[in-house]
Amino acid sequence: MNLVEYFIKLSFIQKILQDKNNGKMSNGYLFYSLDSQTNKIAIDSLAMGLLCKNNGCFFCEDCVKVKNNSHPDVSYYPKDKSFSVADAKDIIEQAYKKPMISNIKIIMINDIDNSSIEAQNKLLKIIEEPPQNVIFLLSSANMDKVLPTIKSRVIKIEISPFTEKQIKTIFEDYKNKNNFDLAVLKGDGYIGKTLSILNNDNYINLYNFCKNVVCNLKKSSDVINFLSFKLDKENFLDILKTLSSMYRDLLIYCSNNTNLISDVSLIDNFEQIKNEFSQNSIIAILGLIDEANQRQNSNVSINLLFERLLVNILEVKYTCK
Ligand SMILES: [Zn+2]
Repeated sequence: MNLVEYFIKLSFIQKILQDKNNGKMSNGYLFYSLDSQTNKIAIDSLAMGLLCKNNGCFFCEDCVKVKNNSHPDVSYYPKDKSFSVADAKDIIEQAYKKPMISNIKIIMINDIDNSSIEAQNKLLKIIEEPPQNVIFLLSSANMDKVLPTIKSRVIKIEISPFTEKQIKTIFEDYKNKNNFDLAVLKGDGYIGKTLSILNNDNYINLYNFCKNVVCNLKKSSDVINFLSFKLDKENFLDILKTLSSMYRDLLIYCSNNTNLISDVSLIDNFEQIKNEFSQNSIIAILGLIDEANQRQNSNVSINLLFERLLVNILEVKYTCK
């Protein structure tokens, strides 16, 4: 399914399109969620809906141009990796030019949180007093990094994670991939996160490997077996993240809050191993994983780091019993 087509029908986009038709639009909107890609698709969809005479028909000239990122009345930022002072200056210049083929001009800024205070301050000037018919569509994956003065000038819309059913519909084209169920489960209801798992054919191996560590690390000789998994800087981070979320689920399971578990497919496994862990040992293990996460940027070899982690987990498991 086309993502923009799906998003445009969502109520939070439809509400703004309705406001447009009633002449009640604001000059600035800021979409936010933890997932940068989800936010980006939201503002892409809104741009299409606003420029199309039929609120986003998908087929007219305006829609096709927005779809191809070639609409003359839409400007995309950042021009480089992150939003800069030069981008803000460019926006000020662009904003005062008349729209070419539409009656509005849209300025899109993705990941505004990924920019300096200086750049945001520069942008503030134009957001405070936008020229007529200019609409700012901003997105942010971390609201703490957006200046309060910018936040107060725009309408903020939080995008909630999609439900499992919605994610399955959105990604139905992928349903034959062997990591589909896992991606739906571990994508946390976000587009970018789900896609990154769907596009990573090794994720299923990595997931099973982590499950194996949590369930079957019982004696020193197991450590050697686990060390045969081929590590690199990238999958090491994923392993730490996955282990951390599995142990967190185990902790929740051991404190009898089964309904809060994020990966329910692990419950049967937890039932079999719960007696091997005290709650304190799981808390200590989570601390060890955090520590490894912090140290992976130093010059220590990741193989050594992983070996230490496994040995320490084993030790904690037995001393906290
Ligand atoms: Zn259209």
